[in-house]
Amino acid sequence: MSIKHNLEKIFEIVKLSAEKSGRKFEDITVLGASKTQPPEKLFEAYKAGLRYFGENKVQEGIKKIDLLKDKMPDAHWHLIGGLQTNKAKYAVKYFELIHSLDRESLADELDKRAKKINRIQDVLIEVNIGEEDTKYGVHPNDLKALFEYTLTKKNLNVQGLMCIPPYFENKESSRPYFVKLRHLKENLEKEFGIELPHLSMGMSHDFDIAVEEGATIVRIGTAIFGERDY
Ligand SMILES: *Cc1c(COP(=O)(O)O)cnc(C)c1O
Repeated sequence: MSIKHNLEKIFEIVKLSAEKSGRKFEDITVLGASKTQPPEKLFEAYKAGLRYFGENKVQEGIKKIDLLKDKMPDAHWHLIGGLQTNKAKYAVKYFELIHSLDRESLADELDKRAKKINRIQDVLIEVNIGEEDTKYGVHPNDLKALFEYTLTKKNLNVQGLMCIPPYFENKESSRPYFVKLRHLKENLEKEFGIELPHLSMGMSHDFDIAVEEGATIVRIGTAIFGERDY
């Protein structure tokens, strides 16, 4: 299957799922999770209409951005993988939205580095929604404290929440985790009187369920680009 064909199918499914949740296709951002994929494949997806790209690693992302920015002038670049504090400096230079803020020390560093280059960095707080030992993300019980802390950071702008639920063969099993993330977001909005525009959730095998449950950004890798070779 070609990337173009894959994307057309995904856009169609996103459209149907958006309608199920009373929204429009335009309300949802399809982000290509392009880790380990060669730049040519990203460009192919761009030509087929994809405008949002999410990389996992700062170095790999920067390389691709530098290679592709002239050919893809209106592409948006997000960082979706776990972020080491010592890479914050580069992350704020290159990525429009960072999906993986999960600790105070990282908020400190991102804020400091964003301030140095005089920009406001948009971030999502990543929540370890399945409370798994192996996953990045703040524990749901610690979310409120991290959110409150991040609000005090003048050069950070919290836009919402992100999660990667545990993997299940049956995509319906992801649904309760997506519902839980939505509720966490709604609780923060109520409690702090702030609007949080984004819920980043849903991947290749369950993005339709995520959109039904309120995702505004779906991060799709293999269903767009094919299998990754690690
Ligand atoms: C790889 C990755 C995805 C996409 O995974 P697929 O199953 O290939 O769609 C989404 N989000 C993050 C954080 C990832 O690392």
